[in-house]
Amino acid sequence: MDIEIKVNKENETISAYAYSSVEKISENTEFQYTTIHKECNNLMDLINVSDTHNALICRRCLLRILIPNKLKTWKDLIEHYKSCMF
Ligand SMILES: [Zn+2]
Repeated sequence: MDIEIKVNKENETISAYAYSSVEKISENTEFQYTTIHKECNNLMDLINVSDTHNALICRRCLLRILIPNKLKTWKDLIEHYKSCMF
């Protein structure tokens, strides 16, 4: 499975992570527990930061990515970052 999304102008990349080889991740999978920061190969946690935004935070380097809290799935993230101009 290959979902990778460039999230900022520094070319940081997040990608989907399956906890087991049995588990399949699709674009309809919620990204909350399945996001890794590719450069660190480390899990990212989703935390609420405001009424409108959540943040994905890398457990290793603490990279913080703000995302609208209505986004839930990988498909949502892909669409969101497609429209972003870095
Ligand atoms: Zn990191």
